[in-house]
Amino acid sequence: MATLTFCGAAGTVTGSCSLMETKHADFLVDCGLFQGNKTTQALNYEPFPFVPGDMDFLILTHAHIDHSGLLPKLVAQGFNSPIYATQPTVDLLEFMLRDGASIQESNAKRKNKKNARRGLPPVEPIYTMPDAEATLKLLVPIEMETIFEPKAGIQVRFWNAGHILGSASAEVNVEGDKADGNTLRMLFSGDIGPDEKVFHNHPDAPEGFDYIVCESTYGNRERDEYTLEARREALKNELVEGLKRGGNVVIPSFAVERSQELLHDIDVLLNTGQIPPTDVYLDSPLATKVTRIFIKHANTLDDVEVDQSMLFRNKNFHLVEGVEESKAVSAIPGGAIIMSASGMCDAGRIQHHLKANIWRKEATILFVGYQGPGTLGGWITRGAEDVRIHGKEFKVAANIRRLGNYSAHADQSELVDWVMERAPVAGGLFLNHGEDEPRAALRELLDEKGLPKEKIFMPAFDESFELSAGTPESKGRTAKVGEPRAQEALICHDWNNDYAEFHIGLAKRLEEAKDDCERMQVMKELKKALTQ
Ligand SMILES: [Zn+2]
Repeated sequence: MATLTFCGAAGTVTGSCSLMETKHADFLVDCGLFQGNKTTQALNYEPFPFVPGDMDFLILTHAHIDHSGLLPKLVAQGFNSPIYATQPTVDLLEFMLRDGASIQESNAKRKNKKNARRGLPPVEPIYTMPDAEATLKLLVPIEMETIFEPKAGIQVRFWNAGHILGSASAEVNVEGDKADGNTLRMLFSGDIGPDEKVFHNHPDAPEGFDYIVCESTYGNRERDEYTLEARREALKNELVEGLKRGGNVVIPSFAVERSQELLHDIDVLLNTGQIPPTDVYLDSPLATKVTRIFIKHANTLDDVEVDQSMLFRNKNFHLVEGVEESKAVSAIPGGAIIMSASGMCDAGRIQHHLKANIWRKEATILFVGYQGPGTLGGWITRGAEDVRIHGKEFKVAANIRRLGNYSAHADQSELVDWVMERAPVAGGLFLNHGEDEPRAALRELLDEKGLPKEKIFMPAFDESFELSAGTPESKGRTAKVGEPRAQEALICHDWNNDYAEFHIGLAKRLEEAKDDCERMQVMKELKKALTQ
């Protein structure tokens, strides 16, 4: 008898964490950070709905922070068992977890300064550098497509997921855990990449499972043109147009994979004279370190045109590390390509580059990745006229552009193909790691393709399922420890966003008022509303 609980990434795309309880062992698949609006982020401070010290092992599908970012918290709270991942994932985590710890520590420091001024008690960081170091010691590298047995009775095998360097789907077999005493066959997709991607082969895994847990990020979306040529052509057009305007082209970019894909494509465009010689700045210390790991694993990259010795080494490239150097890049008035993290603009050096460029009408902000609702990138791409960065307001005058063909995720038809290639699915398919709309759209389409709707589940946050007898049976939201956590409705809609919108609206209303008399009237009515 086995139970599967979705402790994250149910109805959202962050905080991936699935709990499996079997007769042989209890284990987790991924343990990701919750990202997005403040209500979602607050989940990172909540206790886990299980006892971390009781877990026998953890299977990590890939290094992205929404799958790995709470590992140090897990370890800080008593988890002390092996974490299995592929070698490139282990290498990436070495930098990503330390980077995550220093972000947590500096966030807490900043917040505590603010709290002290307001007379509020200090907060603790979610985890610290020693927690990250302790986590790194638990990592165990495993070869792709090699069966290993983390505990007697449980066999696991990683398959290429084609999503980022080292990314894997995990096949998990639990001996004698089916109602008839046979082996329970499961597959956790992790994040699945598109068919055509510069560095990776298309995703793969065997067929014939009892249960599949599949991501559904783009369950309702078909990507724009997606061949490598079409993608580079689109990037070329954006860069040529952007540079022609005289300003900088600022590209918010995820540190892992996206930055390297862009660098590689820009390298090709520069070398073939398709864009004019231009200085290209990668201003993200993490992205720079990740770029070195790509060079280390260049022999595993699946692109015939990649000359491994020349990878990312164009003379126009500047890998920025120090803060002073970063400030100098912010001061460049135009004519440069500036890539920086975070990809959704909610933290990191990109915010400084936005502050320096977003109000300039000759500048271009080019988005090349998913922008979550409630993030700064989400606001800008949804057409905000003004934005607040570091507590200051900025007019959005730059040309805001989007390239939809740089996805690390399979689109709708690729997800459908991936699932149907894994068929038959005897018990059920769980759609996680997706908002409700894409999950529902994917479910409908799979039903049309022959996987009946009744076998496709959209688990709720903290929902558990009994897996031992054919169709999975929901046991509802059963927290093993403490109370069930925040409702999904709250996660999707955050009052902080309403507040920010109200703030900007008020400033605008006061600015547009014809005189101070009208302004005082507006304020008077608002004060009245506050006391009602
Ligand atoms: Zn991912």
